This record gives sequence, structure tokens and C-alpha cells, in this order.
Amino acid sequence: MAPVTLRKLVKRYGALEVVHGIDLEVKDREFIALVGPSGCGKSTTLRMIAGLEDVSDGAIEIGGKKVNDLPPRARNISMVFQSYALYPHMTVAENMGFSLKIAGRSADEIKTRVDEAAAILDLSHLLERRPSQLSGGQRQRVAMGRAIVRQPDVFLFDEPLSNLDAKLRTQVRTEIKKLHARMQATMIYVTHDQVEAMTLSDRIVIMRDGYIEQVGTPEEVFQRPATKFVAGFIGSPP
Ligand code: ADP
Ligand code: MG
Repeated sequence: MAPVTLRKLVKRYGALEVVHGIDLEVKDREFIALVGPSGCGKSTTLRMIAGLEDVSDGAIEIGGKKVNDLPPRARNISMVFQSYALYPHMTVAENMGFSLKIAGRSADEIKTRVDEAAAILDLSHLLERRPSQLSGGQRQRVAMGRAIVRQPDVFLFDEPLSNLDAKLRTQVRTEIKKLHARMQATMIYVTHDQVEAMTLSDRIVIMRDGYIEQVGTPEEVFQRPATKFVAGFIGSPP
């Protein structure tokens, strides 16, 4: 069980406060999109959940346990970024298994988990290739494979589609939806793209200038926007 709870979460960089005490309860296995214009604090919030940024004030709980002081690897999460940063000298299989190797898992276990993840992502025929021999969409699937092999309870995505062209974006978006059904994991998905947020998520969190403007299902925020800002943001395409 891995609900994710933010309590009065604050982030300051020096004197500058960029996240102003936000509260959010993400349910176990829910797919939540954090959406809002560039600079509103989405990545900062996600990076605090991942443990890549310190929390200035407030608390983050994962699975009912406060994780503020836990390092990323102890948080039972995997993060997928927009820049997939694969290791160029390693094969797809090695890239996918690397974190397990670091964690000291046996070669047999690594192979089993990599094979499973490759089957889910349709990468089985590419396991011996290197990143330079893959298309952009295939690379992004390897990045997701890296996240899957760790079998986390929570997945965090930061604009994973933004480096892909329109056609691939649709494909990978479908993969992510399949992944959610298949992995039974809680997913928090950051995007500035309203359409992506509306099509993927159980609920949407609309952020603006470090605050949460509204939380609701896609239907709720579309039909009953809480503020003018939400109405404008959801109503008009980018
Ligand atoms: P988003 O992901 O929604 O585009 P970010 O979370 O990246 O927004 O940034 C939120 C705000 O915090 C922005 O104003 C950004 O300039 C600022 N910010 C992000 N990282 C840093 C940093 N390391 N130092 C100072 N300010 C930062
Ligand atoms: Mg960002």
C-alpha cells in the first residue's frame, strides 16, 4: 500500500519560496497528474517526493511513513525524467538492470526482472542493442524499463513525453497507461500539457505559482473549474 501524502509542504531556495505549503493526498494506486504552467513548482514538488531536493518545511509520507529524511533509494519509488540519460556504453539489458546490480541482486534475479520488464514494454528483441541504436521512443521505453525493474510502489514521471514527436508521444502515453494497469502502482505524473493530464489521470492537481488551485477528476475540473485560472488553463490548448 503506497498512498503519498504532502502536508504543508514548503520549498525555499534561499530567501525565495517556490512551493508555499501545499497539502495533497494521493491514494494508493491512483494516477495523479500535477499540471500547471512552466515555473509553477511541479518539478520541485516531484523532486522533494523523490528525495532529490530537501524539504524546507512540512512533511512527505509514503505508505503512511514520513520519508523527509530518507535517501531516494530508501523511498520505494522510481522516477522517469524527460531526458532519459541512458548509459551509452551499456546494452539495453545492462541499462535496465544497473540499479539492481548496484543494489547487489544476483545475476539470475536481475535477468528475470529485466526479461519481465522487457516483455511488458515490448523491448525483448532489443536487449542486446546500445542506446545509439534505438529510436527516441525506444529509448524512452528503456528509461521506463529501468524504473519498472525496481518494482517500486510509487512511480514519479517528470514530463516523460516532452522530447518525443507527436506520434511517439501518443504511443508512449498508451504505454504509460498500460503500465499503470499492469504494475498496480501509485503514479504521480508531471506535465504542462493539459490534454496529457486529462487523458491519463484519475485526478488532476492544477498548480499555479507554488500553490494548488484545484484537485479533481478530469470531468470535475473541466465542468466545474474552481477559479478563472483553472477555467482558462483547462479550456485552452497550449
Ligand atoms: P516547473 O517544473 O513547474 O516548471 P520548477 O519546479 O522547476 O517549475 O520551478 C519552480 C520555481 O523554482 C521556478 O521559479 C524556478 O525558477 C525555481 N527554481 C527551481 N530550481 C531552483 C534552484 N535550484 N534554485 C533557485 N530557484 C529554483
Ligand atoms: Mg519542470
